Amino acid sequence: MAIDPKKHEMPSQAPEVRAHNFNEVALGYTEEIALAEASRCLNCKNRPCVEGCPVNIAIPDFIAKMKTGDFEGAYQVINTSSSLPAVCGRVCPQETQCEAKCTLGIRFEPVGIGRLERFAADWHNANATEKAKAPEANGHRVAIVGSGPSGLTCAGDLAKKGYAVSVFEALHTAGGVLVYGIPEFRLPKAIVAKEVETLKELGVDVQTNVVIGKTLTIDELFEMGYEAVFIGSGAGLPNFMNIPGESFKGVYSANEFLTRSNLMKAYLDDPDTPIMKGGKVAVVGGGNVAMDAARTALRLGAEKVYIVYRRSMEELPARREEVEHAVEEGIDFQLLRNPVEILGYNNPENPRDEKNGFVVGMKVIRMELGEPDEKGRRRPVAIPGSEYVLDVDTVVIAIGTSPNPLIKSTTEGLEVNSHGGIIVNEEGLTSREAIYAGGDAVTGAATVISAMGAGKVAAKAIDEYLQAK
Ligand SMILES: Cc1cc2nc3c(=O)[nH]c(=O)nc-3n(C[C@H](O)[C@H](O)[C@H](O)COP(=O)(O)OP(=O)(O)OC[C@H]3O[C@@H](n4cnc5c(N)ncnc54)[C@H](O)[C@@H]3O)c2cc1C
Repeated sequence: MAIDPKKHEMPSQAPEVRAHNFNEVALGYTEEIALAEASRCLNCKNRPCVEGCPVNIAIPDFIAKMKTGDFEGAYQVINTSSSLPAVCGRVCPQETQCEAKCTLGIRFEPVGIGRLERFAADWHNANATEKAKAPEANGHRVAIVGSGPSGLTCAGDLAKKGYAVSVFEALHTAGGVLVYGIPEFRLPKAIVAKEVETLKELGVDVQTNVVIGKTLTIDELFEMGYEAVFIGSGAGLPNFMNIPGESFKGVYSANEFLTRSNLMKAYLDDPDTPIMKGGKVAVVGGGNVAMDAARTALRLGAEKVYIVYRRSMEELPARREEVEHAVEEGIDFQLLRNPVEILGYNNPENPRDEKNGFVVGMKVIRMELGEPDEKGRRRPVAIPGSEYVLDVDTVVIAIGTSPNPLIKSTTEGLEVNSHGGIIVNEEGLTSREAIYAGGDAVTGAATVISAMGAGKVAAKAIDEYLQAK
């Protein structure tokens, strides 16, 4: 049978409908489409897709099970390498990882590996009835700081080996960026909640509202009897542009904006926290975070949403699929533009009164691409005299984040690099004995799958360390 040259389309909500609701945009393959897509896999000998996956999922093996309709079997293959398949099937950048290496992709579109992973995980979640069972305790205790993908993965792997694991999370809900950052329309929160429930079934104790470095220090965790600690505290400290006007009311970091919407449910009629609803919004930045903030603003009722990015469409770092969705939904891309000043007004005597003033616009300058920088990306250069004012009343800044220095400042001997990332060896061990780290807290803002991979590596090293003790 001839191979279909094109990947099967993902059924999705229509752009004009989804732009006004928070329901998931991509609806997932039906069984029929999943079988048809699985049949495109060549099951080639050298399996380059496995190499392209940061946690080396046995991709051809799970797809082979799918071809026969054994969806639970497919899930089990994925689950031996990845503890969060329903999450990764939705948010992993497959186009630059496994699918970029797919042999079929040399001549045609690659196999829709992420879409198949999502189907297998959703099938398992809808049909499996067996609960996870806590294994026999091995008598050792491990503390995990942070409940993002790195912390959850490390906790799960250790719990499966019989460790008594406690996860300490600063926020009131577990899940890290998966719950406070990535919006419901890309990753339904029920999926993350289910993963956390499975960990609890395995015996993991999840304690929310505990800020390590304030409520308890890492050294106090050791005094409490924990024999090893994994730090998976992410990179949640927002970067700002350091231009005039960033303190006016109506300027948000993307993290604050998304947390208010996702975690505090600011879009409800009677929310716990206020947020902009309506008006004109500029989101500064071109990554996944910027796309999420812009699309969230639209769903909150903004009449106009701009993405302001200093390079061109080609350099935009967000996933292609997210950019296409944003374009379809009507986000206005102001490319080759850079903010110069945020304008505010309230006090006629002192228009620069940032404490009391509200945003009334953002001055931007046009840019052009110059010589390549050290990473080979053409450097944006301002065009003198090309400034103009964008008429907006909300500005969301999504130009990156860094690891929060709190844990470093309260843990003696913990070394970090010049970007604030915790320094670890290849096993995730920090400069202090029995303290391991991984995910964005080490690398700076990266991906879900790389954070999961780091959690796995550290869990293995912690197990070896405690078994040898
Ligand atoms: C809006 C947004 C969209 C993204 N989209 C994608 C995407 O599509 N695909 C993708 O692969 N990646 C995406 N990413 C990146 C990805 O989510 C992160 O790389 C990943 O979540 C990092 O995992 P982590 O476990 O290291 O940290 P996090 O997920 O950041 O979790 C860290 C947790 O530690 C907690 N914490 C911090 N300090 C303390 C403390 N002192 N005490 C206790 N708890 C603490 C935090 O509250 C948080 O819950 C996105 C990120 C954002 C912000």
